[in-house]
Amino acid sequence: MSEWCNWAGDQRCYPSQVLHPSTVQEISAVVGAAADSGSPLAKTTVKAVGAGHSFTDIALTSGVQLRLDGLSGLQGVDREALQVTLAGGTRLHNIPALLAPYGLALTNMGDIDRQSISGAISTGTHGTGLAFGGIATQVVGLTLVIGTGEVVHCSAAENAELFSAARVGLGALGIIVSVTLQCVPAFTLHAVERPEPLAQVMESLLERQRSTDHFEFYWFPHTSTALTKSNTRYPLGQGPAGVRPLSARAHLVDDVLVSNKLFSALCQVTAKVPSVIPRVNTMASQLTGNREFADLSHRVFATERTVRFREMEYAVPLLEIPAVLAELDVMIKQRGFTISFPVEVRCAAGDDIPLSTAHGRETGYIAIHQHVKIDPFDYFHAAEEIFRAHGGRPHWGKWHFLQSNDFLALYPELNLFDRVHNVADPKRVFRNTYLDRVLS
Ligand SMILES: Cc1cc2nc3c(=O)[nH]c(=O)nc-3n(C[C@H](O)[C@H](O)[C@H](O)COP(=O)(O)OP(=O)(O)OC[C@H]3O[C@@H](n4cnc5c(N)ncnc54)[C@H](O)[C@@H]3O)c2cc1C
Repeated sequence: MSEWCNWAGDQRCYPSQVLHPSTVQEISAVVGAAADSGSPLAKTTVKAVGAGHSFTDIALTSGVQLRLDGLSGLQGVDREALQVTLAGGTRLHNIPALLAPYGLALTNMGDIDRQSISGAISTGTHGTGLAFGGIATQVVGLTLVIGTGEVVHCSAAENAELFSAARVGLGALGIIVSVTLQCVPAFTLHAVERPEPLAQVMESLLERQRSTDHFEFYWFPHTSTALTKSNTRYPLGQGPAGVRPLSARAHLVDDVLVSNKLFSALCQVTAKVPSVIPRVNTMASQLTGNREFADLSHRVFATERTVRFREMEYAVPLLEIPAVLAELDVMIKQRGFTISFPVEVRCAAGDDIPLSTAHGRETGYIAIHQHVKIDPFDYFHAAEEIFRAHGGRPHWGKWHFLQSNDFLALYPELNLFDRVHNVADPKRVFRNTYLDRVLS
């Protein structure tokens, strides 16, 4: 039995079998055989994994693990509709080169691009921007191998309930073998990154979120500074006069050496001497995040993350962000926590996907992190109480401690998801401990 672990290295499993299918037929045969196997309790289970970038146990299995890297790449392009169909195992970082010949780009992205397209949509992966939804909102069609082994295509016009639920399907409804995405013409992003007083950012937060295409900020606990990032969309090749892409040297110094290598070294030091964290955070918030550049959208959206951490992220109603941050600040002081990782704040448009964290409301995302070598759990539990008191919904791929009952009040369309679940996977071929915990 071989061991599998996630990116953070703290979620481990021992699949009974690891398969690398490269055709839909192979996947269908594996799932069909699992559906026909054993009694409900002794049944073979099947789980697809993407890049293993979820922090939760959502991708773990003791059954058959499907690694879909052999099912990757561009399957079709509708030039008129600006839609592309990608195989389910395609990694996000491969998509820009696949779309470039057609002059297309993804509408919005998160802050890294290592994930698989199917893992990203299954867990509700998102970026920032109040006029934009998460990656799942860009999906216009899916083909899945459902729990009976049958291959089913769905879209708003065909198997509409399955389509609705499977866009953030948690891996519970089927193996996604292809995804059709609504794209946009390739575009340039103009990035302005500045340290600013947190109080000033809070005062103008809503206005900035509404007036900037993609606004986010990082607040270093123990300081009153926010590192703001404001990205503005321009037609390809255009942008403010004189603003250029980051030079290779600036990228190396800012993103590789300071953001990853120096930060990693500081984390090693602060893990041993937590009392220096407030001073280190003050220094970090003054030294980093002051630059302006413009480049192809994916080069601006996505950065590299080599320092391993654990993360919790909650989606709260947009207007709750200032109150939640103020309470986090008080909690950190009262509990005497020393936190070296910045708190990340983003936003997204509301959407209509049953289990999307932005379902039915404009959303503020607040993410907290701790280095993998530090026990994060007292901090995460205390923060979760605050997030929950503000109607927060946890990111499906990041740490949370909620159980199925907790979701009843959070998702008005949970019944629709359950109904689709019962049809798509009547024998629970795709179950694992995470789904047993969060779904009824
Ligand atoms: C450094 C880092 C940065 C991150 N940044 C962001 C961010 O900016 N925004 C954000 O929202 N999240 C972010 N995340 C979280 C991450 O995007 C999600 O957890 C995402 O699911 C990871 O994709 P994956 O391919 O690694 O999926 P995995 O973790 O491998 O799997 C996740 C789920 O998807 C299912 N799945 C995978 N492939 C298939 C398939 N073909 N069919 C059906 N189900 C499938 C799995 O079974 C599992 O249930 C980040 C994570 C890390 C480690």
